[in-house]
Amino acid sequence: MANPFLPVAEFPDYPKMTPEAADEALPRLLAEAKSRVDALEKSAPATWDGLALALIDAQRPLWSAWGCISHLLGVCNCEGWRALQKKYQAEMVAFSMRVEQSRRFYGLFKEIKASLETEERRSPSAAAETRIRVLEDWVRSAELAGVALSGERQRRFNEIQEETSRLSSDFRDHVLDATKAFSVVMTTKAETDGLPASLLKTLAGDGDAEKGPWRATIEDATYYPFMKHSRNRPVREALCRARSTRASDGAQDNTPIVARLLALRHELAGLLGYANYAEVSLAQKSAPSVAAVDGLIDELVKASRPFAKKEDDALGAFAAAAGWNEPILPWDRAYWNERQRERLYSYSEEELSKYFNLPVVLDGLFRLATRLFGITVEPADGEAPVWHPDVRFYRVRDERGATIAHFYLDPYSRPATKRGGAWANSVNSRRRLPGGGVRLPLALVCCNQAVPDKDGRALMRFSEVETLFHEFGHALQHMLTTVDEESASGLGLIEWDAVEVASQFMENWCYDAATVKSFARHVETGEPIPSRLIDRVRAARNYRAANASLGQLAYAKVDIELHKTPPPDPNALKDRIFDDLIPGRSVPGDRMLNSFGHIFAGGYAAGYYGYKWSEVMSADVFGAFEEAGLDDERAVRRLGRRYRDTFLALGGSVDPMEVFRRFRGRAPKVDALLRQSGLREGA
Ligand SMILES: [Zn+2]
Repeated sequence: MANPFLPVAEFPDYPKMTPEAADEALPRLLAEAKSRVDALEKSAPATWDGLALALIDAQRPLWSAWGCISHLLGVCNCEGWRALQKKYQAEMVAFSMRVEQSRRFYGLFKEIKASLETEERRSPSAAAETRIRVLEDWVRSAELAGVALSGERQRRFNEIQEETSRLSSDFRDHVLDATKAFSVVMTTKAETDGLPASLLKTLAGDGDAEKGPWRATIEDATYYPFMKHSRNRPVREALCRARSTRASDGAQDNTPIVARLLALRHELAGLLGYANYAEVSLAQKSAPSVAAVDGLIDELVKASRPFAKKEDDALGAFAAAAGWNEPILPWDRAYWNERQRERLYSYSEEELSKYFNLPVVLDGLFRLATRLFGITVEPADGEAPVWHPDVRFYRVRDERGATIAHFYLDPYSRPATKRGGAWANSVNSRRRLPGGGVRLPLALVCCNQAVPDKDGRALMRFSEVETLFHEFGHALQHMLTTVDEESASGLGLIEWDAVEVASQFMENWCYDAATVKSFARHVETGEPIPSRLIDRVRAARNYRAANASLGQLAYAKVDIELHKTPPPDPNALKDRIFDDLIPGRSVPGDRMLNSFGHIFAGGYAAGYYGYKWSEVMSADVFGAFEEAGLDDERAVRRLGRRYRDTFLALGGSVDPMEVFRRFRGRAPKVDALLRQSGLREGA
């Protein structure tokens, strides 16, 4: 039987892909990629086709196989795939570093880039512009991988890289261990006052949900619901204190790791010729400068503050009216928020979900895509192998009926073998083939909603509808690209702080009453969703929006400030910013930094601001539709086509800020986000 990895087909043969087949294919693919890369390093000419394209071609069979393996780990997880990944992980990292750190390639990239730039000045073309951007990215990646360093500086650079990755991994382990180590056991029913039945069941574990005992923990999945519903204030306080001071003592103390990581990153920035690590991060982002990030944070803080004060006053008054005579302390906040939210927007999640049945929601989503972008989505099940019988396959056609892309949809949760959350990814990127013709983009969307009930109804919570729109927004950006260079087509090369624009843009349509009404029909009666219910859902979206905004901004500001100059006491700096932006929200002695995995064990160092940066842009894009009038069909279609021809078509081939300008005719402004979040007087 032919090995499905040698090579991976245009539509990968997932059912035939096994860890054994991968284990047989990977050594061959690695050896072949290495020898082709070695040959190019010896003799490739300084031309786009001769080096850049050849280098991508040389690695494609390997990376396609690895992409399928990573995907199957996420959707068909088993011990075999985990062992396989473990076996080859280090070799794959070493291989990609070997390409990235090649001085010869680095020199050639710069040479090709310079000649393309000369050509571009004589006769500008989008194709040359795209290639220059790809090469710019490769040159920068090589530089950030230390390619330009030599001697003692290079030795020190490698040492820092090694220590940093070790410390990040220790940091993550400490947080996990410290989180697992703490719990409060409740033995009487009275102690569990307020907790919903589903949570009691979880807290009882294998025991009896009615009789207990119940173990309350500080893990995300149970901590948040506990804090929202428990009337047991001493336990709330104990959990809140434990969670805020995780990984702060003994063998799991992350305090020295935080300080050391900040110092190492600062030193690394210096070796690379940057003033600080914030600048290193920004060199790879769409935000033009650290000052621009500071400016955005300050502007949003200023706009949110007065509203946050009003929200807090209203919360205090609400709690007082309910008989609460004490200040609302950090461990009381989630509880009172939830009570106030229930009062203000009373609707039941369960009642609401009866209006959202997956097949009908999908029809509505695809009709919206037709309305906005002129494309048609049609089922093509059976035309490509899938990794699970529940996975659907679709074809996307343009206005003239030509097929332009395909995608898989894997909607349901499979707790034993599929990872949680939702994501969209690329399987193939669009590219012009050497003999003419085009390899079409192929995307996948994975969600995790409940499997259909016995009557075949796949009801969705509203948040799951939003998630589906979000992920489909990512997939659209991958599928509607018109770029011919695969490194820059679709999702490739889009800067991290701009990658959520296309996804968040689609989410906005879940709050447009006409759009929602087009697919929200009661699963039993077929009645469209009542307007008053949509109004409540829309209002609930902005519940305590100013406080939510300030919370995110506080994290973003702490992150960016820490990466300017390493402060002598990082926690003191964090306390200052928290006291200023979100006073009274953290417990005294809070050690949030010690569990801030995004920036100390993830990829978000000096990049946490990216959430807001993307949000400002996506809100401003949607703002164009609002200004034109969401009920003005011609305007919506015209703007939809412009959005398709800019954000969706250009993918990563043009700087996101320039893509934005081409759509909006100006730079992004915060006004639309503030208006949509209700953070504008008179809004
Ligand atoms: Zn996303």
